[in-house]
Amino acid sequence: MADIDRLLEVIRGRDAKTVGLQFPVGLRTKAVELAQEIEARTGVACIVSADPSFGACDVAEMPVDLVVHLGHAPMPHLRYDRVFFHDLGSPPLRDMKFVDAALPLLPKRVGLLTTYQFREWLPAIAKYLQEKGHDVFVGPPDKRVAYAGQLLGCDYHTATVIEKDVDGYLYVGTGDFHPLGVAILVPDKPVIIADPERGEARDLKEVRDRILRQRHAAIARARDAETFGIIVSRKVGQDRSGLADDLKALAAKHDRRATIFLMDLVSPELLMGYRVDAWVNTACPRIAIEDILQYKQPILTPQEFEVVLGERDWKDYVFDEIRAY
Ligand code: SF4
Repeated sequence: MADIDRLLEVIRGRDAKTVGLQFPVGLRTKAVELAQEIEARTGVACIVSADPSFGACDVAEMPVDLVVHLGHAPMPHLRYDRVFFHDLGSPPLRDMKFVDAALPLLPKRVGLLTTYQFREWLPAIAKYLQEKGHDVFVGPPDKRVAYAGQLLGCDYHTATVIEKDVDGYLYVGTGDFHPLGVAILVPDKPVIIADPERGEARDLKEVRDRILRQRHAAIARARDAETFGIIVSRKVGQDRSGLADDLKALAAKHDRRATIFLMDLVSPELLMGYRVDAWVNTACPRIAIEDILQYKQPILTPQEFEVVLGERDWKDYVFDEIRAY
C-alpha cells in the first residue's frame, strides 16, 4: 500500500497504543494485510471496523487512540476527533484513451469533474483538452468537499459553481453514482462519463431520464400517504435533524402524520414492521435514489416530499444535496 511509512510515522507521532482501521468496501481486501503490518512494525494493537464505510461523512466510533480512515478525503466543515485520513493518492495515469473516446461528445467549454480517487489526474487532462482546443474549467471546492473538481454523491458544488461558464461536463471516473446529480441539477448541459477502467465514454442522459421517471413514480405513489416516517442519521456528516423537524412541521401543516426515526445505518431490513405509508430520508441523499427498489413503501428525498405536499412543483425538482455553508 502506498506511503505506509507516512502512516506509521503518524501512528508513532500520536503515541497511539490502539488503532482502528476503517475501509470502504473497495479497499477491504487490504484490511488484514495493513492491520498485520501496522502491528508488526509499530507494536500497536489494531482493530478493523467491520461496519460499512461510505464516506468521510461516516467515521467509525471505536474504542481506540486513533482511527485511520482510508479511501475518502476529510470534509473540511466537520470536526474529527482522533482521526487520520490516510491519503492513498491517485493511481498512475497510463493513457488518455478514455479522454479520446469522450472528445466527439464534448462541447467547446468543458467543466472537468472527478472523484477523490482520480483528482490528481485533472491538471494533465485539462492540459490535454486545452491542446485539443477546449476551454476547460475546474470548479473550486466548498466547505464539504476537499478538492477542486471533486464530486461527492451529496455535494455538486464544483459543478454548479461553473455552470454559467461551461456548455457541458466531462466526468472522469467509473459508474453513474457521482455524476448523476450533475445531470439532474444541470439538465440542459451534457454530462459525459470518461471511464478510465473501460477506456470508454458515454453520455449520462439516458440514465438521468430513467432515474427521473423512477422519482416521478415514487412521488405519485406517495401522494395518498397519510403517515410518513422521516429518517434521520446519527452519522456525523449526515445528520440533518433540523431539516427533519421542518419536514415534520410541514406534514402537520398539510394534515399528514409524521414521525422521526433516528438510526445509524439506514437499511430496509431495519425499517420493516413500522406502520408508515412512505419514508422521507434526510440521511445520505443517495439512499432514496439508489436503494428505492429495496423498500416496500415509497422512499422520498426532502424535496420530493415537498412535491407530494404541493409545496414544490415537479418542474422545480432538484437533486437532494447536503451542502455546508
Ligand atoms: S452523505 Fe452519502 S453521498 Fe455524501 S459522502 Fe456520505 S455516503 Fe457519500
